[in-house]
Amino acid sequence: MSYTLPQKLQKLVPYAPLTGEYSIRLDANESFLSPPEWLLDKLIQAVRQVAFNRYPDPYCVALCERFAAFFGIAPSLVVAGNGSDELIGLIVASFLQPGETMVTVKPDFSMYAFYAQMAGAQVAVFEKTALALDAKSLLVFAKERSARLLILSNPCNPTSLVASQREILQLVEGLPDCLVVIDEAYMDFSEGSILQKAADYSNLIVLKTCSKAFGMAAIRLGFAVAHPTLAIALKAAKSPYNVNSMTQAVGCVLLEQRQYLLDCIEQLKASRDQLCKRLQALAEHKTDLLEVVQTCANFVFVQVQSPEEVCTKAAERGVALRCMPPFLRISAGSPAENQAVCQLLEEILN
Ligand code: PMP
Repeated sequence: MSYTLPQKLQKLVPYAPLTGEYSIRLDANESFLSPPEWLLDKLIQAVRQVAFNRYPDPYCVALCERFAAFFGIAPSLVVAGNGSDELIGLIVASFLQPGETMVTVKPDFSMYAFYAQMAGAQVAVFEKTALALDAKSLLVFAKERSARLLILSNPCNPTSLVASQREILQLVEGLPDCLVVIDEAYMDFSEGSILQKAADYSNLIVLKTCSKAFGMAAIRLGFAVAHPTLAIALKAAKSPYNVNSMTQAVGCVLLEQRQYLLDCIEQLKASRDQLCKRLQALAEHKTDLLEVVQTCANFVFVQVQSPEEVCTKAAERGVALRCMPPFLRISAGSPAENQAVCQLLEEILN
């Protein structure tokens, strides 16, 4: 008799990001800014000082202090992760018992449901009827299902829309028996963060990442911010040396560059505003371009007549876009990349 894979793994296929040669990558909501020479020098210097024969600091003390200082919060609230992806998996696996219900919304970041299924939890999906989040209906939905965990991104990936601080806090306060996880991966581009409120609630975790506004997707660094009781539980549940020493060293230097990071955010916001405006102008004479959502993130969500066809044609010309029928998600790129993608859509769309 041969070994049989557990049922939950049998139909699983490895995550397949776009591969191949693309001269323009606008599919993964990365930052188009890479570190300038002066910063690279500092990062390399920090990596040189890493004690490569030693395990990393398991609690990332220096790193969490810098993150906390950047956002003006207490370091005791902060837990670092190997990307916020790792923290999502950790939270779902450790705070949900098998059979308990996690609520997600649709559309939203697909990894939430994936990790819950791997943990043997039930996933109840709140299907949005409009792109904007109806927080009141979501609250009723979660209550009716006795949800033990509710997770959503704000601003939302992929809709690019933000729910207000008041709406999010209504969810947190309305679900005292449920852990509410607010993924603020794109909040640096918007307003309405509840990061400063994290310590006030016993059932709230806020997630942040260095992969978007801070332009450091390569180092895999994310943070969970929560009341110390939850932060300690997360530290206890994580694998001991989850964030490697090079990432900790680079993250420390990066988070000390306040003005640089604030400038990056301004450039990214200017780029997404420019892209959004150009796409809106295009929509005025392209009947195939049905809707351009006013974005609060670093990408633009657009509805087109034949998204698959547009993505295929774009890929043939070396431009990677994210196809999410009936929408396309286009990351804000450099001015030249935005120009190129708009030119391409001008040619492809009717
Ligand atoms: N949350 C959201 C909403 C995302 O869009 C992403 C990445 N696309 C992540 C989390 C994961 O980010 P990280 O690189 O920190 O793992």
